[in-house]
Amino acid sequence: MNLDFSKNNGLIPVIIQDNQTQQVLMLGYMNEEALQKTQEENTVTFFSRSKNRLWTKGETSGNFLNVVSIKEDCDNDALLIQVIPNGPTCHNGTTSCFANEPQISFLNELENVIEERISNPSSESYVASLFKKGINKMAQKVGEEAVELVIEAKDDNQDLFLNEAADLLFHYLVLLKAKGFGLENVETILKDRMKNR
Ligand code: AMP
Ligand code: ZN
Ligand code: ZN
Ligand code: ZN
Repeated sequence: MNLDFSKNNGLIPVIIQDNQTQQVLMLGYMNEEALQKTQEENTVTFFSRSKNRLWTKGETSGNFLNVVSIKEDCDNDALLIQVIPNGPTCHNGTTSCFANEPQISFLNELENVIEERISNPSSESYVASLFKKGINKMAQKVGEEAVELVIEAKDDNQDLFLNEAADLLFHYLVLLKAKGFGLENVETILKDRMKNR
């Protein structure tokens, strides 16, 4: 690679593209050192103009950009880097800095909290205590809450009904996570069924 770092105070604009979806994820700048580090570690490091230092994308969030390929443009003053992102690229939680996709939904957020409680169990966590009791216990909770919901459905207390609906959804998410899945796996199946209608 024979890049021209001279045009822009030693910085080159770098377009980051998702290798699988082809979506443009973000734009950043690299100096020579950042590019070298990126090539050595196969993880994108920019030169941050606001931090005024090398910035490895994901250094605090864990959402690293794993390098698949690095291409220079026609006149060697810009880069296109294709990556496999570890998570949302934008610090606002969206996949891409250019997409106005809705922020992560509340249910997704809840799933993340559940996942975190399972992998980092603390003594106060209800999810962690359920997880410790095993899959059968978690499955049983789903059954119990389903029965409670059925009972409340026969009544006309809306408040109790909704609360049981919430209990069921919560324990359903816990069970899914404990089995290593998430709502997206269920969504895939439902979407498939929709296609085959
Ligand atoms: P991260 O590199 O993901 O650990 O994020 C660290 C900090 O970098 C964030 O708090 C933001 O200030 C900034 N940042 C993260 N992602 C982006 C991005 N896609 N574009 C601009 N700034 C970002
Ligand atoms: Zn160019
Ligand atoms: Zn962003
Ligand atoms: Zn209940």
